[in-house]
Amino acid sequence: MTDPRTEAIRGTVHAYLDAWLRQRDLAALLRLHTPAVSGFGTGADEAAFTPEEVGRIVGRDIEQVPEPFDYTIHREDVRLLTDDVALVMLIFDMMLDTRGQRVRLNGLRASLVLHATADGWRLAHLHGSFPASVHGDDEPYPVKELEECAQVLERLVRERTHSLEAAQQRLEHLATTDPLTGLNNRMKASEALAEEILRAERHASPLSVILLDLDHFKPINDTLGHGRGDAVLTAVGRLITGRIRATDRAARWGGEEFLILCPQDDIAATARLAEDLRHCLETHDFQTGQPLTASFGVAQLKPGESAESLVDRADRALYAAKHAGRNRVQGA
Ligand code: GH3
Ligand code: MG
Ligand code: MG
Repeated sequence: MTDPRTEAIRGTVHAYLDAWLRQRDLAALLRLHTPAVSGFGTGADEAAFTPEEVGRIVGRDIEQVPEPFDYTIHREDVRLLTDDVALVMLIFDMMLDTRGQRVRLNGLRASLVLHATADGWRLAHLHGSFPASVHGDDEPYPVKELEECAQVLERLVRERTHSLEAAQQRLEHLATTDPLTGLNNRMKASEALAEEILRAERHASPLSVILLDLDHFKPINDTLGHGRGDAVLTAVGRLITGRIRATDRAARWGGEEFLILCPQDDIAATARLAEDLRHCLETHDFQTGQPLTASFGVAQLKPGESAESLVDRADRALYAAKHAGRNRVQGA
């Protein structure tokens, strides 16, 4: 025969677990304590010798994980030690969803001492423990582990973002760079020219271009091989880059044709740069057994002129230079 007091004690214990775990209701929980409650929690710092300390530990528990738990009791042992003092031993599991994860804590143990008061059975002492330490010393639930898990995920996302950005940069480089000379390719040069035209118009400043084409380049390929031709083109690219200003932009416009944008320069200054380059190429030893020369067309942007028209005028000047005997600079 079950002692009716045992049922009353069980009732208090279940109401207590419900208030604590399922409802996360601190006020309801505290009402089930005696005025002299004490206890030990699962964390190293959770030793409560006064009701205030019990309230603080329980309050922190609910604050850290406000989501409701579900629980299943596996074993419950109620013993009346005296007429008004009972000892309850519990083994139970807790489950909760928190921080996007399902957490399950199995085999929790609790010892509860209850005292019969005028209001019914109340908790005078409680002691909880986890049999296996899966949590930090001063926390009742594995919050730290969840946070570490989130940190790992964040790091993975950061790494992935970083490698995507690097891939994006590589693609950008491939899309805008001439692989042989490392100069801007024609597409990038067209973009840059459109930008420079806008800037020149906005600031009412001059903008000029140089289009140059190597003279009699085909025989180099034909007599010394395509590889040597490639090396000459690369060397020409380096020579150009080495002589223009940082604000000028050189690009490989076609096979052996190069375009140079000279912002802030009028046609006279640009023709001087072209002349300097012409001389530089003519006197450079390209290891081909003979001098290499180039013909140059130079043009300055007219008000309201399009990029196509500007390059077209430089191109016509270039061909005029070719027809006039090559190895010369022709203004448009
Ligand atoms: P011109 O003085 O009239 O400009 O004569 P050219 O021989 O320089 O001109 P042409 O247009 O007859 O020949 C240009 C040559 O440039 C032909 C082509 O095979 C070569 N070429 C174009 N691109 C490359 C390249 O990437 N590498 C090499 N090695 N040769 C190239
Ligand atoms: Mg040529
Ligand atoms: Mg050509």
